Amino acid sequence: MINESRLVQTFLDLVVIDSPTGQERAIADEIARRCAALGGEVIRDAHHNLIARWPAVRSQADWLLLSAHMDTAGADVGIKPQIRDGVIYSDGTTILGADDKSGVAVILEVIRSLQEDDIAHPPLEAVITVSEEQGLVGAKLLDKSQLIARQGYILDSGGPLNNIVVSAPSQDRLYVTVYGRKAHAGAEPEKGINAIRVASEAIAAMPLGRIDEETTANIGVIRGGTATNIVPDEVEVRGEARSRNDEKLARQTAAMVAAFDEAATRHQARVQIKLERSYNSYALTAETPVVAKAMAVMAQHGLTPALKASGGGTDGNIYAEHGIYCAVLSTGMSEVHTSNEHIAIADMVACARLLRDIIAQS
Ligand SMILES: [Zn+2]
Repeated sequence: MINESRLVQTFLDLVVIDSPTGQERAIADEIARRCAALGGEVIRDAHHNLIARWPAVRSQADWLLLSAHMDTAGADVGIKPQIRDGVIYSDGTTILGADDKSGVAVILEVIRSLQEDDIAHPPLEAVITVSEEQGLVGAKLLDKSQLIARQGYILDSGGPLNNIVVSAPSQDRLYVTVYGRKAHAGAEPEKGINAIRVASEAIAAMPLGRIDEETTANIGVIRGGTATNIVPDEVEVRGEARSRNDEKLARQTAAMVAAFDEAATRHQARVQIKLERSYNSYALTAETPVVAKAMAVMAQHGLTPALKASGGGTDGNIYAEHGIYCAVLSTGMSEVHTSNEHIAIADMVACARLLRDIIAQS
């Protein structure tokens, strides 16, 4: 049985351990301790990524990956969870950290429950990553050749419990520096080339926001200039584009680059652009075994499964690049990355029951 009060307590215990992305030592220690207490064989890498394995119990089935991330978004610390009407919130001044400690708590509770009830299950490989919120950094740094499982579940999504995220976009990142020419803004502005103006014209000219159903783009950082009386000679701009269609992504990224090139040419400025493929898209189908299994168990639980395409990457993008295919399940987390982040206890419990039955039937 999934023990609701124990699951909630585990979640609350994890949430009060500060773990802003990049500062995971304490939370990694605690999760490692809990996995070891459950009899898991625990492996940690230099970045505090954690792998824990449990052998099969009366099962010949393949290894199953269970994954979540231990870091929380932004810099919030001192999280004080509160329960109101069956829903867990922060005190309103910070995030809650249900993203993704609800996923970690669910995995721990499910393993404990399988053991308590002596339920047969395949060998389990839990992978709890760091720095997911910095752009899947922990999963990228993790030595994937160590992983045994070739399929599994990632507990790192919100929305209704019947959602199964089966595809995610590729992401390109753009690091741009526009170089103009410095001049005194009052005495001889005609000698200058205003890098801020060049960047502005480029950004104003490029397609941004929602491009189509599967493509988005954003300029997220702009930095430059030193004083109002100096024509600025350098501006740094950072942006990104995502699409679940790689051709559309290539087109969008090219349009952003072209806008910078055109504006630079117009003003005889120089532009330096570094492009980086942050992660690659993947897509599972209703026939992918982990998806089919999740759908069947959801139906047993009275849910109508809904296969969803995500607009964002998860560690699943990185695993997929290494031939490990994961469906992403919802823990019920809501309004993540805001001070109104919350999770209904009933949803977290329902997620744990689903995962437990999925594992038991795998
Ligand atoms: Zn997350």
